[in-house]
Amino acid sequence: MFNLLKIYNKILDLILKYKDLNIVSFKRTSYLIFIIILVMLFDALSIISVMPLIQYIQAGQDIDQFIKANNYGQYLVDVSSFLSIPFTLLNLSIVLFLFVSMRQFFNIFEVWETDKTRLQIAKNLSINCFKNIMLSKATFIRSLKQGQFTALCETEVTNTSLLYKIFLQFISVGIQIIAYATVMFYVAPLMTGMAVLLIIILIFSMMTFVKKTHIAGDLVVTLRKRFYNFVSENFSLWRLFKFGSLVNTEVKQIENLAQDYADKQLDIIKYSIISRFFIAVVAMFLCITFLNLSVNIFNFDFAKITLFSLIFIRLIPLGTRLNGSINGIVAYAPSLYVIREILRDSVLHKEELEKGIDFKGINKSIEFKDVSFSYDKSKSNIILKNINLTIPSNKITAIIGRSGGGKSTLIDLLPRIISPDSGKIYIDGKNIEDYSLASIRNKISFVSQDTILFDGTVRENITYYIPNADEDEVIEAAKLSGAHDFIEKFSKKYNYNIGEKGFKLSGGQKQRLILARAFLSKPKILILDEATSSLDYNSELHVKKAINKFTKLNNCTVIIIAHRNTTIENADLAVLIGDGKIIDRGDSSKVLSKYLGS
Ligand code: ATP
Ligand code: MG
Repeated sequence: MFNLLKIYNKILDLILKYKDLNIVSFKRTSYLIFIIILVMLFDALSIISVMPLIQYIQAGQDIDQFIKANNYGQYLVDVSSFLSIPFTLLNLSIVLFLFVSMRQFFNIFEVWETDKTRLQIAKNLSINCFKNIMLSKATFIRSLKQGQFTALCETEVTNTSLLYKIFLQFISVGIQIIAYATVMFYVAPLMTGMAVLLIIILIFSMMTFVKKTHIAGDLVVTLRKRFYNFVSENFSLWRLFKFGSLVNTEVKQIENLAQDYADKQLDIIKYSIISRFFIAVVAMFLCITFLNLSVNIFNFDFAKITLFSLIFIRLIPLGTRLNGSINGIVAYAPSLYVIREILRDSVLHKEELEKGIDFKGINKSIEFKDVSFSYDKSKSNIILKNINLTIPSNKITAIIGRSGGGKSTLIDLLPRIISPDSGKIYIDGKNIEDYSLASIRNKISFVSQDTILFDGTVRENITYYIPNADEDEVIEAAKLSGAHDFIEKFSKKYNYNIGEKGFKLSGGQKQRLILARAFLSKPKILILDEATSSLDYNSELHVKKAINKFTKLNNCTVIIIAHRNTTIENADLAVLIGDGKIIDRGDSSKVLSKYLGS
């Protein structure tokens, strides 16, 4: 019971606390509960209207007899004369038919409206998970895995929406049971009191199964995350297994994982079946016992026995549904918990994109002042140590140094993918935190060590940041990066599909395409992190010239990180970084020789 209350609070939270996310409104939930109550009302009315029908037949269709035999008879006859409807068997049957039809109508309407809301919740949660995670800081995004992200945006949100639906079902079944119990209590208080007591005892004895289901539900969510992570990571590593002939080892692993995942899901079904069986048997036993009691001890008349039997027949499936919905709620609740946790954390880690002044470009310089940084915020593994560095505007600055020295980390500080633990970075004397993140990132083009391409045409990949670019501009950018020549050789030229992550291209072709994308967006800061490492000598020479031209034409500040001397030679300034510190800076040939000699 405690668990149900906790879950109920979390669902309410999702509706009320996360109102801004527009997942489902309180109004919509109240509307659904209202329809459920209408179903209940007509259900109760149709059951209750059976009694006068039978008693009227028992009275030989004689109105006086009927009034005499039943205390409510006079009232019914008065109502029918007030409505000018003759009190006949046919009319009583029509009333019953109408109530049953209304019940069916509202029932179907309720199913339609609830499922519509359920799908809307799943959709809204999915969008919100995707959006909030994407809008959060890099540190938070990096803490998630691809499979976990897929599971969140699909299965966990679907389960959470099912949980909402099951909860409504729980409320509906609960109200029905209370309504029937009230009718029964009115007709036979003592017997109903005994039955209710026995049912309460039965519910409490089911709690062990409920707890077990909850634990299994928790494990299912954890195993699903692991399973999705495994599948998505392995798919991207297929070459690794093929070359080592290790496919079978991976298959063995997925066999174990899939087995665990299936076992835990089966556990939930097992607990649900056992408790369903238990409830059905006990309910039948109660039914027969009370039927006998009602005839032999309480001396019920035929109409009362029929009413009781009807209610009992309705109560047995309701009891099983109540039990089923309790099991469903506790089994799906862990999905809701994960979604809430992710929504809460992503909101906490949200990046403020628009706040701050508009960044238009650099007039003088970028300055790092006493900047220190560590990934795990520990004093023992400091990656950047008190960096003081000035990068002049509209010039080419090369950053060199041994692998793992902190070059890429230093550069990630500029678009504020990460922030310094101490120290500040200034652009033209203004702290970069005063500029709006969106405007800074719009003016920075970043060509990194990972070639980031997507499944689409050459043109779509080049124009990703500038979707409305003219054909001439696209070709000019492709010519500058040296991509135009090989694009022209493709069957569909700029409409050629490059495949997922650009797998149909060579390493050098990928880099040139990303360079074309960077050139097209006309950035004020161009960062090239090992961006030409896959190019042959001539292609690199071409790109180097292009960068020189681009820098002058567009007033662009270029930062190049590279290991090859050929890449760095024509830089205006070189900075040597080692072990998180600046070792030397100045003329590129001087710094380069120091680097090569070190
Ligand atoms: P390379 O020339 O090989 O690209 P680099 O100079 O760019 O090297 P960085 O990528 O900045 O080096 O890495 C500096 C240090 O920070 C390395 O020791 C690396 O292990 C660590 N590091 C980098 N990225 C992360 C991360 N996301 N989490 C934790 N540690 C990291
Ligand atoms: Mg690097």
